[in-house]
Amino acid sequence: MDRVGRFAASLLLVPALAVPRGFGPDSARDEARWEERYRALPDSAVIRETARLLSAAPHHVGSAYDEKNAQWILARFREFGFDASIETFYPLFATPRERLLEMVEPGRFRASLAEAPVEGDPTSSQTAAQLPTYNVYSIDGDVTAPLVYVNYGIPADYESLDALGVDVRGKIVIARYGASWRGIKPKVAAEHGAVGCLIYSDPRDDGYFQGDVYPKGPYRPPQGAQRGGVADNPLYSGDPLTPGVGADKPPAHWSLDDAKTLSRIPVLPISYADAQPLLAALSGPVAPREWRGALPITYHVGPGPARAHLKVSFDWKITPVRDVIARIRGAEFPDEWVIQGNHYDAWVNGASDPVSGMSALLEEARSLGTLLREGWRPKRTILLCAWDGEEPGLLGSTEWAETHASELQRKAVAYVNSDSNGRGFLNVSGSHSLETLVNEAAGEIEDPEKKMPVGRRLRLRRIAVARNSEERREARERGNFRIGSLGSGSDYTTFLDHLGIASLNLGFGGEGGGGVYHSIYDDFSWYTRFSDTDFSYGRTLAQMAGTVVMRLADSDILPLDFTGEADAAARFLKEVKDLAKERREAVEERNRRIDEGVPEAMADPREPFVAPKKEPPVPEFDLSPLEKASDSLAEAAKQYESALGAAGRSDSARAARVNALLRSAERELTREDGLPRRPWFKHFLYAPGFYTGYDVKTLPAVREAIEEKQYDDVGPNAKKTAEVIEKLAARVREAAAALRAR
Ligand SMILES: [Zn+2]
Repeated sequence: MDRVGRFAASLLLVPALAVPRGFGPDSARDEARWEERYRALPDSAVIRETARLLSAAPHHVGSAYDEKNAQWILARFREFGFDASIETFYPLFATPRERLLEMVEPGRFRASLAEAPVEGDPTSSQTAAQLPTYNVYSIDGDVTAPLVYVNYGIPADYESLDALGVDVRGKIVIARYGASWRGIKPKVAAEHGAVGCLIYSDPRDDGYFQGDVYPKGPYRPPQGAQRGGVADNPLYSGDPLTPGVGADKPPAHWSLDDAKTLSRIPVLPISYADAQPLLAALSGPVAPREWRGALPITYHVGPGPARAHLKVSFDWKITPVRDVIARIRGAEFPDEWVIQGNHYDAWVNGASDPVSGMSALLEEARSLGTLLREGWRPKRTILLCAWDGEEPGLLGSTEWAETHASELQRKAVAYVNSDSNGRGFLNVSGSHSLETLVNEAAGEIEDPEKKMPVGRRLRLRRIAVARNSEERREARERGNFRIGSLGSGSDYTTFLDHLGIASLNLGFGGEGGGGVYHSIYDDFSWYTRFSDTDFSYGRTLAQMAGTVVMRLADSDILPLDFTGEADAAARFLKEVKDLAKERREAVEERNRRIDEGVPEAMADPREPFVAPKKEPPVPEFDLSPLEKASDSLAEAAKQYESALGAAGRSDSARAARVNALLRSAERELTREDGLPRRPWFKHFLYAPGFYTGYDVKTLPAVREAIEEKQYDDVGPNAKKTAEVIEKLAARVREAAAALRAR
């Protein structure tokens, strides 16, 4: 076989005849021909019509239109010539029965908790079918208590409250959206003793501070509120009742006590119109500068004198979710699966989230159907999945993957995800073994507005936004542009974090902005005025994802890259070392200042003062097993690259041996016992943060032990993490040896 490695060494040098990774010269010619044909097929006009139809009515889990969409998607898959069916699962879901929020002191105010229809936006008035604004997996509750403003409601905010002498025990907290997964806010509030949690959208974050509000502009109008799940998804995702097991039939008995991820206190999302009177009625210390939003008030922290009455109750029900799964059988390796998915359920009409991504996936499906009729036969099986129930808690994808776990662990090659799509730059994150594949594909896909490869545009952007010369140098000179790492937030979570399947998340965005996320205003009218208005980036996403999927399905040797992966692991280790050093110095400095009397000298004697306490010093950690493992992976990657370069024309028996080893490479990074505190999460290179929930923590077992001051755990967790990296290195060496074998 032949290969061209990192060919984009210079932005200006585009190779005339690139052989993509994993293909020999002959198969590369074939592949190029089919891909060229493929990329000509996706049609923006078809995507537009699909998007209009799928978003024509509210279609949340359990609604009539959601089921109608499932049937419609199934019919399309069959029409395109695929073997398709619906798989139904039975997780717990809840819809609101009662929602009440009022201020009872000083003065009375009752929150409207309603999003008003907008003139000229026909679907915004489909009130009867819309789910009211609420946070699913909040527990039922009825509490009356003083309010405290807690900024984003993440652990650092509570440290600031401590310094102000403000305690949230027995209080209702009001947090703003942002800086964490929303489910973290009630989790951390409950850990600090709060009895209720309100989450509002501050206009600074996605309202009038950012730009004109809907319908004049794309940003959140005063009465807009963000729905969303608040389960403790960093513990496990999917059905709260069945962690690790597919909910493939309705449970005979169930109780809310079995649902370990429900919030421990009642939660309700509100608009900034509803939040303003509550926040304006707080006194107590003025909020720290970074906590202040863009409402025309002075932000105080409280507690009180504002007292709120919050009452929520829900209709708890086992609710069917329907995944639509289409299969294109592989001609040579039917038991090697390339899986792609996007969810189709929405909070309301969801033209952006998720219909923009779903309609691109359907257009990709239509185009692959055309290729099949013209004679294309992928070597491997392709599964195209339309997930239901993503919004409440990744229900459809998690239950499906848990149900088919052992088959997936044997057969899956990779999982490619998309979700909301917008206009602008390529967004790509995932397993670093897929970095070369992504770079090569991004070199061939044209940006519809700038008429240059999307990969090149991404590099140019990175030069523009680099924070220092090192980042600029990397953006200009690194062979591949780096891809981000995945935390959580969409349907890749279960594939990557629970099953250890190499995963990617693809989309476009960064231009236009907006503030309609999870509101009734995320609809076709908004999308076609403010986002990818002509669906040209929908077409681009179909081209990009389709190219990646075709290469994964057609290659002779799976297009995985361990040099990039070794580089990523070394970088994660460096970041952890930097973090430890930073923490050590910060604690030293803090303790020194306390000894010197700096805090007392700085405090205004007319304000309350809480003397800070000294912290235990941060010890030196033994990270040597990680260093050794990282070096060992780098060495193995080198061996693999040289074996790949030296390998002649591949015979299929040898390719099959190598591919079997490669297919399970990502799995080596998992451990059966899972991460400390959360055994559902098995991947030791990436996980969503336990207290952030959305963003990625790389080397999570080590990093979080440092962040959360569990210093005794750092060494043992580093050792466990090193073991999985050593396992991967061994697997890569085996693959190199298999390539060399005659
Ligand atoms: Zn989504």
